[in-house]
Amino acid sequence: MIASVTRHDWTPAEVLALFKLPFNDLLFQAQSVHRQYFEPNRVQVSTLLSIKTGACPEDCKYCPQSGHYNTGLDKEKLMEVEKVLQAAADAKAIGSTRFCMGAAWKHPSAKDMPYVLKMVEGVKALGLETCMTLGKLTQEQTEALAQAGLDYYNHNLDTSPEFYGNIITTRTYSERLQTLAYVRDAGMKICSGGILGMGESVEDRAGLLIQLANLPEHPESVPINMLVKVKGTPLAEEEDVDPFDFIRMLAVARIMMPESHVRLSAGREQMNEQMQALAFLAGANSIFYGEKLLTTGNPQADKDMRLFARLGIQPEAREEHADEVHQAAIEQALIEQRDSKLFYSAV
Ligand code: SF4
Repeated sequence: MIASVTRHDWTPAEVLALFKLPFNDLLFQAQSVHRQYFEPNRVQVSTLLSIKTGACPEDCKYCPQSGHYNTGLDKEKLMEVEKVLQAAADAKAIGSTRFCMGAAWKHPSAKDMPYVLKMVEGVKALGLETCMTLGKLTQEQTEALAQAGLDYYNHNLDTSPEFYGNIITTRTYSERLQTLAYVRDAGMKICSGGILGMGESVEDRAGLLIQLANLPEHPESVPINMLVKVKGTPLAEEEDVDPFDFIRMLAVARIMMPESHVRLSAGREQMNEQMQALAFLAGANSIFYGEKLLTTGNPQADKDMRLFARLGIQPEAREEHADEVHQAAIEQALIEQRDSKLFYSAV
């Protein structure tokens, strides 16, 4: 067994050497590290809801929600608190342990903050972990969210500092790092990762992981996204990522941040079951499930459960649930869900 330690001093040469390992050697190392920190056959399950969709003033070149591009996306104002809480209750009923709420904003406005705080309080009261992604935060807003009971804040670094300017020009890398620092100072957990398939090099992929792993504390959650190419966005015609290179990214993330949940995130719908199984072998141990991942499709929850069953994977349960009760609740809810539309569709 290869002994692993949590480090914050990764160098580009070391990380590139990991990317260059033969595929099976890399996967073996990642799986060995994974087993030192996690139960190998457990995957954490989150549900993501878009609480405010489209017309974002930022110019992220991959994003159909940016107001800079015409993608035909229906714009939606901030959802009503009650509807958000209903969606959270439905997500809990199908086995999600964390409810993530995303708003396409540059930053939350003073007028919207009271509603956002009510959402956090309400979702928390349902017994779910809470996560939000609202853009850049001030220190005051961060503290208010923490006080309301927000567990996680998602703010992705997206790519390396060097490549970042090719993708986003309306918000700087250092602003992103500042928001992450506020989140940490307020005592919340961090969810931060990036995207593959934007034309970045392997050095950029290594650079992103170095930024995340060399933070004073590793993000508790590291989403690794495959670009979902949406017509109308500047990255719509980018070349596909080699699936093995995507798996390599998950494996290197697992080795560098051994205690973090590595999330197989956007782009999962384009992956076949064999690739998802390889992703779990590489150390991915978190997925989004539910009907929609923000504005792009997400595999159906029952399809996910069937894949879990075939692979002998159990969803990570919150402590108050006995496993059998939890599993039975999921199965029952999936049957009930089949003909009903529980989730708000952001598309
Ligand atoms: S990724 Fe977020 S910040 Fe960037 S355009 Fe999309 S919604 Fe706005």
